[in-house]
Amino acid sequence: MTFPDPHTPELSLRPDTVTVQAGRPARTPGAPVNTPITLSAKYIHDSDRPYGRDGNEGWDALETALGALEGGHAISFASGMAAIAAVADLVPVGGVVVLPPTAYHGVSHWFGRLAERGLLSVRTADPSDTAAVLAAADGADLVWLESIANPTMEVADIPAIAAGAREKGALIAVDATFATPLRQRPLELGADLVVHSATKFLGGHSDLLLGVVIAASEEHARSIAGYRHDAGSIPGGIEPFLALRGLRTLAVRLDRAEANALELARRLSQHPSVAAVHYPGLPGDSEQERAARVLPGGCGAMVSFETLGTAEQTERVLAGLRLFAHATSLGDVESSIERRARWAGDAASGVPATLCRMSVGIENVEDLWTDLDEGLRGLSGAPGA
Ligand SMILES: *Cc1c(COP(=O)(O)O)cnc(C)c1O
Repeated sequence: MTFPDPHTPELSLRPDTVTVQAGRPARTPGAPVNTPITLSAKYIHDSDRPYGRDGNEGWDALETALGALEGGHAISFASGMAAIAAVADLVPVGGVVVLPPTAYHGVSHWFGRLAERGLLSVRTADPSDTAAVLAAADGADLVWLESIANPTMEVADIPAIAAGAREKGALIAVDATFATPLRQRPLELGADLVVHSATKFLGGHSDLLLGVVIAASEEHARSIAGYRHDAGSIPGGIEPFLALRGLRTLAVRLDRAEANALELARRLSQHPSVAAVHYPGLPGDSEQERAARVLPGGCGAMVSFETLGTAEQTERVLAGLRLFAHATSLGDVESSIERRARWAGDAASGVPATLCRMSVGIENVEDLWTDLDEGLRGLSGAPGA
């Protein structure tokens, strides 16, 4: 039996089927069902891939799957930041980049470094304010969005921003790490480029670093692949295999983690030690209507909340939790939590001092709640504290 190619448009496989089926070897007798890990720095002449920096079958497999999922050309990198640096390379010298004020701190640092060297200049605009982003996009070369945004969990109106910015001649890149391709596909919404830190939800098991850019146009894809080759910011031989294995279970992991996240967000919004909860899917929130439009499948597994204690008390509570790992990073099967303003870049960009960013995993939600609830009751502001 020959297996249909998931790229074949007439098949129009659904995204959760693509995550399982795409990027596998052809089904010939005796063929493996997974692309084997190839660890080789050099290859026998004469092929178009004489050297390990030119390509790898394992990258191809992952890129086929991610390209099919997002509807573009995928190029994988050593990390999310390496992928982001590759997109930054598309900005001409003297160009203008529009960033969210609280972008992932690595993004702010990287563009800030290029700006310090006089290579480009940076403007900031809140991505949840479409008019402000479009005003800042006048004369800009690149508009950078995060959706769902870190750590405010705001959802940008990508179709409106993409249409407006395109008219002004700016490229639109979306860091969709928090949303995953199962909740939002920015290329379908009009973006030119999508970036994922596959270290997070795509991998999902805290065991790899990898990044990916998916470009709508072949021209951008070629330029970005050329940058990767020249900069050497290539993924390793093993990480793409792990990322693809993680992708196989993304749909079920995300469904479970998201259901847990919604339940925890609901309960936290009633908690006596909690001042505010940031989650696009909370009912009664007008943000939710926008979220529902942009993320029809669900609102992801990231929740932020602000406590009524001090930063120091909050830090102690998080360090004392038993199930939630007191650690950065996100999108994994195990839950983790951190006070985001512990990072100088986030504190400087105005993230509230007691804002806790939670990556909700796939554990039993009642156990997660017991851990959080007991910890938070120790804060001042809570009855009996
Ligand atoms: C982690 C992260 C990055 C950077 O990815 P790395 O794989 O750590 O280099 C970029 N954007 C967002 C939203 C992230 O969470």
